[in-house]
Amino acid sequence: MTKLIAGNWKMNGSLAANEGLLSALASGLPKSLSCDVAVCIPAPYFAQFQALFATMPALALVALGSQDVSSQSAGAFTGEVSATMLRDFACRYAIVGHSERRQYHGETDFLVAAKAQQALAVGITPIVCVGETLAEREAGQTTEVVKRQLAAVIHANGHCISEIVLAYEPVWAIGTGKTASPEEAQAVHAVLRAQLAAATEHASRVKIIYGGSMNAANASTLLAQPDIDGGLIGGASLKAGDFLSIISAAS
Ligand code: PEP
Repeated sequence: MTKLIAGNWKMNGSLAANEGLLSALASGLPKSLSCDVAVCIPAPYFAQFQALFATMPALALVALGSQDVSSQSAGAFTGEVSATMLRDFACRYAIVGHSERRQYHGETDFLVAAKAQQALAVGITPIVCVGETLAEREAGQTTEVVKRQLAAVIHANGHCISEIVLAYEPVWAIGTGKTASPEEAQAVHAVLRAQLAAATEHASRVKIIYGGSMNAANASTLLAQPDIDGGLIGGASLKAGDFLSIISAAS
């Protein structure tokens, strides 16, 4: 399966910094790629991305993604951004259920499932994040937690579940420099693949990507695992050289 390398810029960037990062990416990318690449950037910069996209042909290899989407389609929801608005900017992906949103914004499994539904309804691929905290891992609850999080999304989305990208992101590995070992990550990815297989005959085509301190040094061993179909990259996606190395490890 074609791997997906998606950068999650989080709340980082400025007009000047984005232009520098995107032009460094554009000049470092090969002419063609054998993996899919996306950058999930802060929404206020979508128009800038589109303008740069028009002037930097190499960026055609990079899809635009958002870091969130509303669970509602329109109306009196101050501060929210709808899936249709994302589509206006040719957004290809929307991260939903990132642990930072579950943790700091109280997002529930139910809400995350509704967000995935909104994205799918307009043809945007939700990158659905699941993952356990350190306390949950230490209590032996990893499988139970990720299965519960995925079950809500399966329940709400039925056969469309084959259209999602699933990201396993152990919370203890995000932004900490601690990475799940390739074996630990693969074990959870296999559990998730089996859960998808019980819900859809197309489970083998669902990309299950890993996120949590993936970097230029550890990407190739993680990506060599049979059920690791790419990476969701936070910190390392802000450094063009590191992000390009991860892309090359996936190609
Ligand atoms: C993330 O935010 O999705 C992530 C994986 O971050 P980092 O790579 O910095 O751990």
